[in-house]
Amino acid sequence: MLLTPSCTDALEMSALLAELRPGDEVVVPSFTFVSTANAFALLGVRPVFADVDPLALNIDPASVESLIGPKTRALVVVHYGGVPCDLARLTRLADEHGLFLIEDNAHGLLGKDCDAPLGSRGRLATLSFHETKNFSSGEGGALVINDPALVERAEVIWEKGTNRSQFFRGQVAKYTWVDLGSSYLMADPLAAVLTAQFAASSEIQARRAGAWNTYRDELGDWARERDVRLGTGSADGEHPYHLFWMWMPSLQVRTAFISHMRQRGIQAVFHYQALNASLMGQVLGGRVGECPVSEAASDHVVRLPLFSDIAPTEVRAVVEAVLGFDDAAAGT
Ligand SMILES: *Cc1c(COP(=O)(O)O)cnc(C)c1O
Repeated sequence: MLLTPSCTDALEMSALLAELRPGDEVVVPSFTFVSTANAFALLGVRPVFADVDPLALNIDPASVESLIGPKTRALVVVHYGGVPCDLARLTRLADEHGLFLIEDNAHGLLGKDCDAPLGSRGRLATLSFHETKNFSSGEGGALVINDPALVERAEVIWEKGTNRSQFFRGQVAKYTWVDLGSSYLMADPLAAVLTAQFAASSEIQARRAGAWNTYRDELGDWARERDVRLGTGSADGEHPYHLFWMWMPSLQVRTAFISHMRQRGIQAVFHYQALNASLMGQVLGGRVGECPVSEAASDHVVRLPLFSDIAPTEVRAVVEAVLGFDDAAAGT
């Protein structure tokens, strides 16, 4: 594993390591953060947007399969909210079509799929330590290298295209420019911050799990009565509790809900804009309407506050505020 300044950087390293060329295609989920696609677009590789499944908002293997063509070289998957994608089908598709599989595991650190840690099935996986993630150094990330054949080149790309890592280990007498690369190293002080975060990992995860479980347990009846769907956890446990999301019945109700929460001093936020329908996504060939679930999710999904130092009293206040939301009174 190599620490990087961000998950975005780790994704850019992945695109270089996969030896993708201009004109190649990479299949990515449409419902994800920009960097999942942008890292590849920087190299002239065309992102092709797969839709997500409506239950977990994870990349839909059937959609992936329909998009694989003669130019497809790689597949990037995201475990949305830390709930595993259908890795059995996705790894089979990658194997059958010779695709380079990358897990953008920004949400899924500590999560498991059956017994396998998320981020252990792709040839590469990326992590984020951005302030919005479970473990944070403000900005930060990592590249997880699961294929030993990629380690040496990953170190070179990480060290500005030089074999300086080998020099530090005494394997070469001096270091020199040997390949393409950039400055993808995390600064040591940030690594120290991260070390402290990981030392507190069980407390962080216990607090997040407490908040997540309280939301799920306390909001079930409220949600059912209002046609709101609560996001699921992992079927097999070992859930990273990265985010708690709800599918609201309409954009109008979601807008009223967010403003209701804001009036009570609580930030409920939404994400992502479906990448196929974004400005840049369309420049790169995406079309509005091609990822219907992802596009609907952009209008319906809202997240409740879930951060690593959230206090039980804050969780209680969020629950009370949600229970006080009456969509009829909100005029929707
Ligand atoms: C947060 C996030 C990123 C970007 O992470 P940075 O560390 O901010 O670069 C990429 N992909 C996903 C799915 C994310 O949630």
